Amino acid sequence: MTTRREFLIGTGAGLAALGAAGLGRGQDPERIWPTAEIIADSLDQPRDAPFVVSTWNHGLPANLAAWEILSRGGPALDAVESGVRVTEADPEVDSVGYGGRPDREGHVTLDACIMDQHGNAGSVAFLQDIMHPISVARLVMEKTPHVMLVGQGARHFAEENGFQPRNLLTPRAERDWKEWLKTAEYHPWAPASDPSHDTISMLAMDQGGDLSGACTTSGLAYKMHGRVGDSPIIGAALFVDNEVGAACATGVGEEVMKTVGSFLIVELMRQGMSPAEACHEAIARIVRKNPAWRDLQVGYVAFDRKGRIGSFAILPGFQYAVMDQEGNRLVDSPSWK
Ligand code: ASP
Repeated sequence: MTTRREFLIGTGAGLAALGAAGLGRGQDPERIWPTAEIIADSLDQPRDAPFVVSTWNHGLPANLAAWEILSRGGPALDAVESGVRVTEADPEVDSVGYGGRPDREGHVTLDACIMDQHGNAGSVAFLQDIMHPISVARLVMEKTPHVMLVGQGARHFAEENGFQPRNLLTPRAERDWKEWLKTAEYHPWAPASDPSHDTISMLAMDQGGDLSGACTTSGLAYKMHGRVGDSPIIGAALFVDNEVGAACATGVGEEVMKTVGSFLIVELMRQGMSPAEACHEAIARIVRKNPAWRDLQVGYVAFDRKGRIGSFAILPGFQYAVMDQEGNRLVDSPSWK
C-alpha cells in the first residue's frame, strides 16, 4: 500500500490539493472532533455527476471500468457492477473473488451485495466456486422475490443462470494458506501486520443523478468455515438512498454489523450531517463500545446528493479511490487513531 497521502492517476496538478489525510491523531477515544477539522480532511466540496468512489487502491482500476459506463451516460447500477467485477477477476487481489484467501479449511467463500436507486437490493453469502458473486447478487435482486441467497442455494441459482463453476483458490493463495496452517494464529483484527481484509465497496452517481452501490469480498482470511461478515448485509457494508446519499464499509465486518454502519451513515446524512461527519460518528459508535478499538480497522466512505464525499476510519492506512471529471486518484482517509 502506498504511503503517499494521495496518488494521482491521469489528473491535473490542481488535484494535488485534494484529499489531505488526517494521520497521527491523538489517541483519546473520547476526543470530540471539531466539525471543521473533520470536514477539512474530506473531499467535502459539491461535485457534478457522474462520479464514483471505491475502497482501497484496487479501487483505481475498478473505478476506470465504472467510469467507462458513467462517462457515456450509463446507469450507476451497471457502473458499480462492472467496476467491482474487475477486482473479483484479479488474482493479485487476495481479499476479493478469484485469488481471495480461503477460510481455515482452504475454501474460498464469497460474499457480495448490490443496491440500486429504487432501494432494490440483492445479496449472496458463503458462495463458492463462482467468479463473480456481484453479478449473482444482481440477479437475485432482479430475478427473484428475495434479497439474499446463501451457500449451495446461491450456487445452484448461479449455475442455473449460466455461471460456470471454477476453482477460485490460486496457487499463491493456497501456498499462503498452507504457510498460515503451520501456526494457525488468527488475528483478523490486526490490519497493520496482517492485511487480511480489503473488501472492495463502490458507490456511484450517474449523469442522471441516480445512485447505486456494490460490495464484494472473500471475507476475512482464514475465518471459520461458514463465517459471513458485513459485506453481503444490506445496511451494514452498503446502503443507498437516492434521496439522501450512499455509504459503504470495509474492515472487520463484525464491528460494522453490530453498528449497522452504512445505514447509520445515510440516516445521519438525512438528518443533516455531512458525509464526513456521518462517517466519523459511525466510527465513534464502534470506538466507544469497544475497548480493543486500537487493534480494529474499519473504514467508511460516503457521499451525499450534492456530491460531497467523506470518509473516516479507526486506524490510519485506509484509502479510497475517487473518479470524477478531474481524474482518478487515491485519497488517504482521516482516522481516529
Ligand atoms: N468487511 C469484510 C468482512 O468482514 C472484510 C474486508 O473489508 O475485507 O468480511
